[in-house]
Amino acid sequence: MIAAQTTRQRCRSALGAWLRGRRHQIEQTPASWALLAPTAVRVAEIEAVAEEMHGAIKVMIDPHFTPGECTWCAPARPELATVRVCGDPDPEQDHMKPLFAAEVCHRCAVNPRTGAVRQALIEAGPHRLVEVEVCES
Ligand SMILES: [Zn+2]
Repeated sequence: MIAAQTTRQRCRSALGAWLRGRRHQIEQTPASWALLAPTAVRVAEIEAVAEEMHGAIKVMIDPHFTPGECTWCAPARPELATVRVCGDPDPEQDHMKPLFAAEVCHRCAVNPRTGAVRQALIEAGPHRLVEVEVCES
């Protein structure tokens, strides 16, 4: 029994050493910034949501946007907020939690089912304009 454990431990440390030797040198982890899609791509994806919903949207690039943490992501793993969605909810409609302004990550902004852009467009109705500000990358 003791011999078996020792063998297993020896195997394990040999395997560990072998894996360490084979592992590629990892360069520095890129900053979240570097992983962002180009501004034009992100703007196009936001505009596509509005186009699909036939909603009125105005997307602007804000060179002074200071990215914080996404307020819509799971608190444990917030993404970088790069989109500011400024809604104009129709006061005639009774919305549960109307969206006036939210800073969210790109994924939370363009999600086709639960996205902030979608919510703002629904609440704005056909005659109100949703404004979206995007940080530059
Ligand atoms: Zn998010």
